[in-house]
Amino acid sequence: MEKFEQIFNIINEQAEKFEQQDMTYLDGVLAMLEGTLDGAFKWEVAGATKEDMRKAIQIAILKGMRKNTQPNHQMTPDTLGLLVSYFVEQFYEKELAEGSISVADLALGTGNLMFTLMNVLDGKVEATGVEVDELLIRLAAATADLTEQPISLYRQDALESLLVDPVDAVVCDLPVGYYPNEEVALDYELCAEEGMSYSHHLFIEQSLKHTKEGGYLFFFIPAALFESEQAKHLHKYIKKHAWIQAVIQLPETMFSSKAHEKSILILQKQRADVKAPREVLLAKVPNMANKQALAMFFEKVRLWKENK
Ligand code: SAM
Repeated sequence: MEKFEQIFNIINEQAEKFEQQDMTYLDGVLAMLEGTLDGAFKWEVAGATKEDMRKAIQIAILKGMRKNTQPNHQMTPDTLGLLVSYFVEQFYEKELAEGSISVADLALGTGNLMFTLMNVLDGKVEATGVEVDELLIRLAAATADLTEQPISLYRQDALESLLVDPVDAVVCDLPVGYYPNEEVALDYELCAEEGMSYSHHLFIEQSLKHTKEGGYLFFFIPAALFESEQAKHLHKYIKKHAWIQAVIQLPETMFSSKAHEKSILILQKQRADVKAPREVLLAKVPNMANKQALAMFFEKVRLWKENK
C-alpha cells in the first residue's frame, strides 16, 4: 500500500469514529487533524513526504464533501493544481531560480490548490490565503501545520477590505455566482449596473488590486466567462488594468457537465515599462492520458513563451 493510502486509512478510521459520535465526517477529519497537532493522535508513516500527507488529507476531505454536499465545498483537484503550478513555474522561471515569490489565493477553500503549488515549488512560495468559510480555513490551517508549509491566513469575506500587501502572483479557483453583499459591491468598478454583481468578476478586480504591477494572475474561470450579459464590462475593465496572456481551455472530460466546465485565464497586471504580449496564447489542454498530445501542448506553450 502506498504511503498516502496508509495515512488516509489512519485519518479515515478516526473520522469514522467521530462520525459515530454525531459529527459529520468532514468535521471528524478536522477534529482528527487538529487532534494530531495537539498530540492526541499519531500518524507517523516512515518516509512519508509532504505530498503524501497532502494527498491523504485531500482524499479524506473529498470523501467528507461527497458525504455531505454543500455548494461552496469544492476543492481544486490535483490535475488542475499541477497545471497551474506548471504555468507559475514558466512565468516566474527567473525569480524562482534566484529566490522565492509571494503568492495569494483569495478564495483558498481547503488550500488544496495552494498546497499543490507550494509542494511543487517547495520552499519558494510565501503564501497568503483568504477564505470566508470557517470549517474550510481550519482544514487549510491544519494541513499547513501538518505539512509544514508556512502560510498567512485570513478568515473573512475577501471582497471586503483586505490587509494583504500586493503579491507577486495570484492563483485562484474563482467562486462563481452572485455576490450577496450589494453594499460592498458598490466599491468595485465591476459592480453590476443593474441587479446583483458576479462574485467571480469582483474577485478578479480584488485580486488585481492586491497584485504588484507586472505580476501575473492565474484564475480558474467558468468556461463561458466572456459570454455572459456582463462580459463586455469585464472585458473593458481587464483591458484597462491588465493584459490577457493566455486563455487555456480544459478537457470537457474533467467536468461533470457543460455548466461546470472551466478554463484557465492568465493575466498580467499592467506596468509602464512592460509591453503586452504579441499574441494571446489560446490553447486547449488535451486529454491528460494522451501523452503525445500533452507533449505537443507543452511545446506550444514553450514556443509561445519564447516569442512573447
Ligand atoms: N482552491 C480551493 C481548494 O483547493 O480547496 C477551492 C476554491 S472554491 C472553488 C471557492 C472558494 O471560495 C470556496 O471555498 C468558498 O467558500 C470561497 N468564497 C466564496 N465567496 C467568498 C468570499 N466572499 N470571501 C472569501 N472566500 C469566499
